[in-house]
Amino acid sequence: MRIAMISEHASPLAILGGEDAGGQNTHVAELSAALVAAGHDVRVYTRRDAVDLPVSVRTPDGYEVVHVPAGPAEPLAKDALLPHMKEFSRWLVDRWRGGDWTPEVVHAHFWMSGLAGLAASRQLGVPVVQTYHALGVVKRRHQGVQDTSPARRIGYERELGRSVDRVVAQCQDEVGELVRMGVPRTRMTVVPSGVNLATFAPLGPAAERDPGRARILTVGRLVERKGFQTVVRAMSYVPDAECVVVGGPPAGLLESDPYARRLRALAGSCGVADRVRLVGAVPREEMGRWYRSADLLVAAPWYEPFGLTPLEAMACGVPVVGTAVGGIKDTVVEGVTGDLVPARDPRALGDAVRDLLDDRIRRFSYAAAARERARRTYSWAVTAQRLAGVYEEVAAVRRPTRVVAG
Ligand code: UDP
Repeated sequence: MRIAMISEHASPLAILGGEDAGGQNTHVAELSAALVAAGHDVRVYTRRDAVDLPVSVRTPDGYEVVHVPAGPAEPLAKDALLPHMKEFSRWLVDRWRGGDWTPEVVHAHFWMSGLAGLAASRQLGVPVVQTYHALGVVKRRHQGVQDTSPARRIGYERELGRSVDRVVAQCQDEVGELVRMGVPRTRMTVVPSGVNLATFAPLGPAAERDPGRARILTVGRLVERKGFQTVVRAMSYVPDAECVVVGGPPAGLLESDPYARRLRALAGSCGVADRVRLVGAVPREEMGRWYRSADLLVAAPWYEPFGLTPLEAMACGVPVVGTAVGGIKDTVVEGVTGDLVPARDPRALGDAVRDLLDDRIRRFSYAAAARERARRTYSWAVTAQRLAGVYEEVAAVRRPTRVVAG
């Protein structure tokens, strides 16, 4: 099938770890690669954010990345992109109408991609599948006045859910949120993200470590909601172990990153500065080395639409101590592949981590079960197959083309 992925802010070619570059980039890259491997023809449309980018690039995985001119050709925060979505969608219409390649299905990632995708595809009679990756209602609940999303995001997300041909939710928690927003359950299919089982495997090189000291790893964009402050505070309840934080700007720029500085200051005031190490952004292909070097992974977000890092750790055979939020409640099976604790509770987190570090046998059994669960339930091949099934279903339904005057 000819499949158009739209991922307005999250390019599969981006360097990850920065404020707006994380799970969605990985997801779109891996999903596209898996669909190509299954014989599909995939193009990913993302906003052109630098002048020197070619219009399109063919990746080694066989899908094409198309840089759509919409707004200035420079990096913009994702919360500033909404005004440029009209231009994005017009460009798609021109391209798909006039060119030799028109998609049979559009899969939009994030709500603004949904707006652009829906506007374009309705003019051509192409069905649209929507994955939100994150929901405005959840962000607003947790971030309150600090949420910089455009004011109309929540309303747009509701409308999208009612207008697209299918919503793909990534976890049960998201289904509940969408139903409460007024998106009909019948429009939804739950397909969790996959994990790259070749990159993330128990065997392979590991980052250097001190063999005499337990290593706790935590990974993510250096933003407050990822809960790194809770992890740093929890370290006071975990004697001797070291905590390695992967993510944020490249190592050389950590000094000037305000959040990295806050974390370091907090580690100092908690008396754990010598046991907390920030390494900055790590290229995707090197992430396996970091997971394999750890005794356990901590994922302590306030909320988490899906959460790839626990799954990547599990695929490497690393147990997870996570907060009981969002997708982590589906991926981590409590007492089998890891432990769950309440969010924003350093004491509960610290106690759970310490207990698990003290119990070698439980860690060993979690590790084996985690790898097995990742392998059986979250391979990209299976995820891509399930999504291809969704694409075929929506494409089988004929829909009228909307004729737009002018
Ligand atoms: N990641 C990376 N390098 C880094 C930090 C993160 O490659 O320095 C990757 C990580 O391996 C994962 C993704 O970024 O694939 C983060 O996804 P997650 O779902 O955990 O969080 P999100 O960014 O979507 O909030």
